[in-house]
Amino acid sequence: METSTLLPLPVLSAALRPAPVATRPVAVPTLRPTVLASPLKKKLLKALFTLVEAGLLLRFLRRPDKVRQALALLEERRREYFGAFVPRKVACVAGRYYRGYHSPGWPSAAYTSYIGTAINRLVPFRAEQNTLNMVFLAITKKCPLACEHCFEWEALNQKESLTLADLHALVARFQDKQVTQIFFSGGEPMVRVHDLLQVLSAARPGTDFWVITSGFNFTCANALKLKQAGLTGVSISLDHYVPEFHNRFRGSDKAFENAIQAATYAQQAGLVVNLAVCVTKEFTTAANLLRYARLARQLGVAFIQLLEPRAVGHYAAQEVSLSATQTALLDAFYELLNFSPACHDWPIVTYYGYHQRRLGCSGAADRFLYVDTDGDLHACPFCQKKSGSALCGSLDEGMNQVRANGCQLFHPTAI
Ligand code: SF4
Repeated sequence: METSTLLPLPVLSAALRPAPVATRPVAVPTLRPTVLASPLKKKLLKALFTLVEAGLLLRFLRRPDKVRQALALLEERRREYFGAFVPRKVACVAGRYYRGYHSPGWPSAAYTSYIGTAINRLVPFRAEQNTLNMVFLAITKKCPLACEHCFEWEALNQKESLTLADLHALVARFQDKQVTQIFFSGGEPMVRVHDLLQVLSAARPGTDFWVITSGFNFTCANALKLKQAGLTGVSISLDHYVPEFHNRFRGSDKAFENAIQAATYAQQAGLVVNLAVCVTKEFTTAANLLRYARLARQLGVAFIQLLEPRAVGHYAAQEVSLSATQTALLDAFYELLNFSPACHDWPIVTYYGYHQRRLGCSGAADRFLYVDTDGDLHACPFCQKKSGSALCGSLDEGMNQVRANGCQLFHPTAI
C-alpha cells in the first residue's frame, strides 16, 4: 500500500476562518480502485445488465406486449433522467456490480426487488402499489461531534428513545414494504455498533444496508464484523481534502483521520464506500471539487455524494444556500465525472440536486423517506415535518401523510 501525505494548506486556511482546530498531518493510503477501468469489461457488463433486466421484465410481466410497453417507458424515463448522457460507469465490490449509490448491486435479491418496484411503477403487475426504495433510519441521538451543518442539532445527545426492539421492528416493517436500501444514520450510528450487528444479523435478504458515519468507532474489527453481519456499504462524511478544514467543520481534531481510516477499513473489509461532502459556499469552487475527487480516487471509493447545505438544524436561519453559479458548477462537476471519457475510472458522483431541480423531489415517501430518532416519519433528513410514526399505527397511513405534506422545496418527482 503506497501512502502520500495531505498537508494542510496554510494560506487557504487563514483566509477562511481564524483559530483552526489543531491538526497533525494524516497519511492517506492509495487503495485499489473499485470503479472499473476496462472498456471491454464495461461493455460486457452493459450487455449483461440488459439481459438480466430483460429476464426480470419477462419474469414479472409475463406478456410480450407488456414487456414492450415497459421497455419503451423505461427508455423514456432514462432520457428524462439522464438527457443525452449515457451512464457507463460501474463499481465492483465483493463480487457485486453497482451503477449508482441509490440502487442495490447486482447480483442480489435487493437488486431483483428494486427492478420489480421500478417495473411495477411503469406497468403495474402486483397489487402492492408501493414505490418506496430507500429509508434513512436515524437510530441514535448520540454523537461525539458538533458539525457546522448538523440537521439533527436539536435532538443531538438528548435521551435515547429507540430501543433495540424498536430497531428490529422498524427494519422488519420496511422490509415488509420491500424497501431495498436502508441507511442507518443518527447521530452517529457507530455508537450503537453492537445493536447494529444484531439488527443486521436478524434482517431478511432483499435489502442492502448502509451506515452513514463520520468514521467514529469504525475500527478494522468493527468493519469486518459489520460486513460479516450483512452490511453492504458505508457512507463516510468527509467535507474537505484539507484535514484542518474538515476537522473544524466537524468540531473534532480527529475527524479527518477517523474518516480516512474508516474508508480504508471499509475497503479492506469488502464494503462499498461512498464519500459524502457538504458542498458549502466556501467549499464550492472548481479547484476544491477536483482536489476532493482526486482524494476520493486515491482512496479507491465507488461513490462521491454532493450534499447541498440547507438552513435546518445547526444551520437554521442562516443564509447557506449556494449561488446559481455554484449549483451550475456542481452540475458541470457531476457531468464531468460521470460522463467524460477522461474520468471514466474516477468515482461515480451522486448529486441529487441536479435531478431535483430538473424533475422534482422523489422523497416524501415516493422513493425515499426519513425516520427520525423517535421513530417519526419525515419527507427527508433536510425537510422535516413529523407525519406520523413508523413504530405504531398504520405505516401506510403515515406514509400517505408524508406524501400529503410533500417536500417543502420541490414539487413531487415527475418520473
Ligand atoms: S452531522 Fe452527524 S456527525 Fe455531525 S454532529 Fe450531526 S449527527 Fe454528529
